[in-house]
Amino acid sequence: MPSAASSDQHTEICIVGAGAAGLWAAQACAAAGAQTLVLEKTRRTGSKVLSSGGTRCNLTTSLDADATARCFGDGHNFIRPALRNLTPQEVRARFEAMGVATKLETEFEKIFPASDSALQVRNALESEAKKVGARFVLDACVDSIAPSETGWTVVSSKGVVHCKALLICTGGKSYPKVGTTGDAYPWFRGLGLKVVDPVPALVPLSSPAPWIHALSGIAIDGELRIGKSKRRRPVLFTHRGLSGPASMDLSEHVTRGQKREASLDFLPDVSWEDLRALLVEGASKSGSPRLASLLPLPRRVVEMLAAQAGITPHNPPLNQINKSSRHRLIEQIKNLRIPVSGSLGFAKAEVTAGGLALKEVNRLTMEVKKAPGLYVFGEALDLQGPIGGFNFQAAFSTAELAAKAACAACR
Ligand SMILES: Cc1cc2nc3c(=O)[nH]c(=O)nc-3n(C[C@H](O)[C@H](O)[C@H](O)COP(=O)(O)OP(=O)(O)OC[C@H]3O[C@@H](n4cnc5c(N)ncnc54)[C@H](O)[C@@H]3O)c2cc1C
Repeated sequence: MPSAASSDQHTEICIVGAGAAGLWAAQACAAAGAQTLVLEKTRRTGSKVLSSGGTRCNLTTSLDADATARCFGDGHNFIRPALRNLTPQEVRARFEAMGVATKLETEFEKIFPASDSALQVRNALESEAKKVGARFVLDACVDSIAPSETGWTVVSSKGVVHCKALLICTGGKSYPKVGTTGDAYPWFRGLGLKVVDPVPALVPLSSPAPWIHALSGIAIDGELRIGKSKRRRPVLFTHRGLSGPASMDLSEHVTRGQKREASLDFLPDVSWEDLRALLVEGASKSGSPRLASLLPLPRRVVEMLAAQAGITPHNPPLNQINKSSRHRLIEQIKNLRIPVSGSLGFAKAEVTAGGLALKEVNRLTMEVKKAPGLYVFGEALDLQGPIGGFNFQAAFSTAELAAKAACAACR
């Protein structure tokens, strides 16, 4: 990009946002021979890639395309063609070809760079795009977009760009400190397009219950339920409420304002009946063991469960637990009701649920149906997956389709 950035620029393809989706699209467009200009609001590319996966970057999943699509809830039909066109296995192979060796972490089918370095991932994406000729302008905050006779006009803090095809991948509103502040939503609304109300998702939950805060730091491999949805993944107690993959995966039910209670099964592999039998058997043993030595749970958790069941002392010998107390205890272990007051908000949310309504977009091309030449993809769409590399995969797969279609339209 010339430094005389205040004068108008002309390009075939203008990409707004150099996050995961923008970097992928930049490489794909430039590699296809299209003149490609990327405008990025902040001073660096791929900020979220850098912070992702605890700076290890869970870049995709080992699931196949259709199984991955099924993880996108209401968005599964929309994303399936994009995932079949660029599968998680192809993304992994592309990273390997870029020099980023990858590894599988078998728990939850997560793929990471073998180096555990998100920086390596970001650098690979950026240098591949630059290698094939994509140009980047950093510190260029786009203020508005409008259709023109020859395509689209983009006004940014670094000047005006005229392009044939405009690719918007500005992400959502989560983690606003890295530049994602929902800037594109007013542009979409201005074009008469529907935007589904954005709410924080994949976000820790807050609980008013002091007995939950008191367990801060303990993780349980239980089964969490919120409404009709459930997740068999770790739950982490915090001094504010609940975190960990299960709580974060289900958080949208809370942030949409629908649910104010979670329930946790601490021993999902043990049936109610087997648990009852275990407690009865334990009570009949000579020298009756104490509750905490019988249950395969941390002592602080056992004491909290006993307290919630109204049992004192909180770690009694098993033969001192009468039938009705035992019944209440089993209820707490299998179905502890946890009040939830909200979430830690966009500041701590890994993604945004909501965004440009999927019905506005052609799922085979990512082109906006009512706005030819405008392509929207990545997290700017009302599309979000669970924890596990699904959101990067969605960003890459939707970017690939948009790039292919935009390049074809420019020819
Ligand atoms: C802490 C954290 C950890 C995560 N870990 C993982 C993980 O391990 N695996 C996974 O799959 N997902 C993870 N995610 C989610 C993942 O990062 C996002 O879903 C993904 O980055 C979305 O890609 P995107 O390109 O659509 O948007 P983003 O990556 O958010 O990029 C959008 C870009 O647009 C720019 N922009 C915004 N407005 C403007 C404007 N007006 N003008 C110009 N540029 C603009 C932004 O500065 C930003 O660079 C994590 C998210 C967070 C916050």
